[in-house]
Amino acid sequence: MTRAIDLVRTVRDLRIRVAAWRKASETVALVPTMGAIHADHLSLVSVAQTQADRVLTSLFVNPLQFGPREDFHAYPRNESRDATVLAAAGSDLLYAPEASEMYPPHFSTRVSVGDLTEDLCGAARPNHFDGVATVVTKLLLQCAPDTAIFGEKDYQQLLVIKRLVRDLNIQVAIIGGPIVREDDGLALSSRNAYLSRAQRAVAPTLYQTLRQVALELEQGCGADAAAEAGRFKLEAAGFRVDYVAVREPDTLKPLHGPVQVARVLAAVHLGKTRLVDNVPVPLQA
Ligand code: AMP
Repeated sequence: MTRAIDLVRTVRDLRIRVAAWRKASETVALVPTMGAIHADHLSLVSVAQTQADRVLTSLFVNPLQFGPREDFHAYPRNESRDATVLAAAGSDLLYAPEASEMYPPHFSTRVSVGDLTEDLCGAARPNHFDGVATVVTKLLLQCAPDTAIFGEKDYQQLLVIKRLVRDLNIQVAIIGGPIVREDDGLALSSRNAYLSRAQRAVAPTLYQTLRQVALELEQGCGADAAAEAGRFKLEAAGFRVDYVAVREPDTLKPLHGPVQVARVLAAVHLGKTRLVDNVPVPLQA
């Protein structure tokens, strides 16, 4: 029989639960999510289990990180199913605050990381990373975990969070979880649910193209030429391309000539669905 997961909705109740773990000398790993739990989130729960005695998952669709014309209202929500799946995966506690708990009246503070947030997804989605940085800072302060796990799929987000934790001296280790993919290579995402059957058939071209760019770089092709070829391939397949970029893996600084080590990142639209993905250079086996 599946067990029900413990659920808390307020910072006060959350802190009571975490304090009890602390009193028993247990360590805590946090997995922040926006719900619509799929295998990608569960793989982050598995990583969390290797890092700490207790796994705390948060579920909060953060209005601050959506633009006015983005999919905040349409974003898939199914809390009771998420709770069941997370319990089965071994998460100990679900923190699912209401928006009014996270952002009480007259909430006005923003965490802005600058630098790393200015281009790539930051250019295409103004204010997105301030929204992410603000909610993640709040979650880290509310949950006070030893470790927090974020997916490498959102690679720029992972670096932004590492930077804010360092800059603000928040005492937590940030761990990246490997990208979880469908058999055909498409990175799992809650937004894949928006794809029509025809779009779903085209979507794996994103990963194939990123791999192709990485292979060309490994063969000595210059970064600008490889990225441009990738953009061309994606546009020919029917994507609207926000960017294809070859960047320094820790700083996201642009790279131009031949490269030994890099990250290839892309964001594209298929109809109304925005997809992001990235691969390392060299490609892992
Ligand atoms: P979300 O619920 O979309 O905000 O995602 C919650 C966490 O899961 C974030 O740290 C994401 O980076 C991560 N994540 C989303 N998709 C994947 C994926 N395909 N592989 C690994 N992590 C992912």
